Amino acid sequence: MGELVLENVFKKYSDDAVAVSDFNLQVEDQEFIVLVGPSGCGKSTTLRMIAGLEEISDGQLRINGKVMNDVPPKDRDIAMVFQNYALYPHMTVYDNMAFGLKLRKFSKAEIDQRVKNAASILGLEDYLTRKPKALSGGQRQRVALGRAIVRDAGLFLMDEPLSNLDAKLRVQMRAEITKLHQRLKTTTVYVTHDQTEAMTMATRLVVMKDGFIQQIGTPKQVYENP
Ligand code: ADP
Ligand code: ADP
Repeated sequence: MGELVLENVFKKYSDDAVAVSDFNLQVEDQEFIVLVGPSGCGKSTTLRMIAGLEEISDGQLRINGKVMNDVPPKDRDIAMVFQNYALYPHMTVYDNMAFGLKLRKFSKAEIDQRVKNAASILGLEDYLTRKPKALSGGQRQRVALGRAIVRDAGLFLMDEPLSNLDAKLRVQMRAEITKLHQRLKTTTVYVTHDQTEAMTMATRLVVMKDGFIQQIGTPKQVYENP
């Protein structure tokens, strides 16, 4: 389950650098929320506060009803996908996907089952013994998604996961991520500066500007009232 509430959340990097101001959002289980807006508007900071990678200056973050402000990232039931994939270059695809589970002391059998299941969902079965440098951009992005899937977390956070791909692949991966969400139904918060990406993928959009929320709504609502 992945319900998420941000209440009057602020992020101040310093007194004169307020990156996020009075952010209020309630995310229901299974939603695919897209934070969209120009570079520097506070999307990434918001996502990193949800992940626990950035401290919240003021306000409250709750996940499934529990206050999370002071809970360390590893205890948040969150899996994150980064723009640069953050794959380990010296490890095979299999080991990249298994790594987070090994850290968490899952059994070998459980790891094997989860990795193979994720590989089959993502069409990576034939690439498990390769290293990242022997993969295409799209395949690398699938491995990064695989690392998130195997965790079986309640919440996915994705920070510009497609921006390193060329235009054609980006459109293809958009559809793949949407399909993945329809299949797994994991609550997702997805960050992008690309309006088309936001409109095509979101169940609801959060439009940000200068650290503030400008608008929250379905793609249809945002399209009709820009
Ligand atoms: P976005 O993801 O929308 O591009 P960010 O959340 O990265 O925006 O940044 C929001 C604002 O906070 C920007 O003005 C940025 O310069 C500033 N900022 C981001 N990270 C830091 C940091 N570590 N220290 C100081 N300012 C930061
Ligand atoms: P995984 O490999 O599945 O991402 P990890 O055990 O490596 O899981 O990560 C534990 C936590 O650390 C995650 O919940 C995530 O929030 C955070 N994290 C993972 N990768 C990075 C990274 N490259 N930079 C910062 N934080 C990270």
